Amino acid sequence: MEELEQRILQTIDERAGELIAFAEDIYGHAEPGFQEVQTAEKVSRMLQSLGLTVREKLAVTGVKAKLKQGGGITIAAIGELDGVNCPSHIHANPASGYSHTCGHHCQLAAMIGSAMALTVPEVAEAMDGNVAFFAVPSEEYNDLEHKSWMMQKGIIRYGSGKSELIRLGEFDDINISMVHHLHMVDTYYDVLLGMNSTNGFIMKLVNYTGKAAHGAIAPHKGINALNAASLALSALAYQRETFKESDYVRVHAIISEGGRMVNVVPDHVVVECQVRAKTMSAMLDANHKANRSFEAGAHAIGAGIQINDMPGYLPVLDAGNSRPLDAAARAAAGGKKVSAIDPALHNPASTDVGDLCHLMPVLAFTTGGFKGSLHSADFEITDKYLAYVLPAKIMALTIFNALKNSAFEARRIMDFYPQHLTKKEYLEYMDGFINQDKK
Ligand SMILES: [Zn+2]
Ligand SMILES: [Zn+2]
Repeated sequence: MEELEQRILQTIDERAGELIAFAEDIYGHAEPGFQEVQTAEKVSRMLQSLGLTVREKLAVTGVKAKLKQGGGITIAAIGELDGVNCPSHIHANPASGYSHTCGHHCQLAAMIGSAMALTVPEVAEAMDGNVAFFAVPSEEYNDLEHKSWMMQKGIIRYGSGKSELIRLGEFDDINISMVHHLHMVDTYYDVLLGMNSTNGFIMKLVNYTGKAAHGAIAPHKGINALNAASLALSALAYQRETFKESDYVRVHAIISEGGRMVNVVPDHVVVECQVRAKTMSAMLDANHKANRSFEAGAHAIGAGIQINDMPGYLPVLDAGNSRPLDAAARAAAGGKKVSAIDPALHNPASTDVGDLCHLMPVLAFTTGGFKGSLHSADFEITDKYLAYVLPAKIMALTIFNALKNSAFEARRIMDFYPQHLTKKEYLEYMDGFINQDKK
């Protein structure tokens, strides 16, 4: 390993205590998406303490700092800011009920730790390109009510942090992104390089309007919105045989408002639904069938219906292309057990990293260091080195290797990457949902 590479790993080891304290502070103070005000402030302070000029409040709470002035090939070291609504977790923030049970605080440690190493002047000088340390808001798609309110107020247009940042041009100066996550599959390995393909999704909010009447004396005078929703969900279930196994379609719904009093015919019912699939075409096909089903319920009962579709996330594609530079990542991992993800495995959950993957190469890796399940009360960090320190080393060494030697490896990654959408096409897709005629 060359001297500067050793210096990168050494710097992170020397500052490990500081990095762990930062991560643990974030861990105990999780905040909802687009409301990560305190988290963003802490990230900003850390980046400023490294001598970086920081831009704040990007897409409400995002924080971005460039290593150098000027351009050149730029790699973004990304950390997500938001927590998960899981109030029963032992480290849930009492103020918000949110917890970091998706491990996004580990990503922030990776990003800050890589900034600690890459801001060492000799290291920065040896890179022929730029690095953006980028804390991004709202990866989880929860708190829909608040998001809808923000959309109505024009504070955001799309539902996720990365989508908003793409829209606002904050990824225009980024050529490659690098992301970390805790393991999303059971594995014997400490580090998995790359990322599995994931489903994309469309978020749906369906409002049924009926007519209230006494449930016993005059139900014939009412229009039962709950019956309309119930029929629609049955119709939706009948669509399932038309979904191909290979498309991993998932359609799941809840009735978030189902009536107010049992002796009143429900006149307002709200169904929330997510339509997920492995490809955009399968997603759009399943969404069309879902809309038909929801309309059928309204038609049969004579209820009014309004369907609001919101663009969720795009699928992660090219799982095999998302592996960081193997040699650098393995060198950073030292004696830890490292493997590549099995690109044949598909993850039916969704992430807005999928949106980025359509526009630019994304280098991804996952680490262990926790027990229990993501998004669950039993989630707990068990190995601070694996969860907080090692991800920083892998991120820093990979970025350094991509940008040294006239950014040879970064150029290779960019040449090899098949761009799926231009930014213009991406925005047209997203706006297609927003501009559609509301029924
Ligand atoms: Zn999550
Ligand atoms: Zn996550």
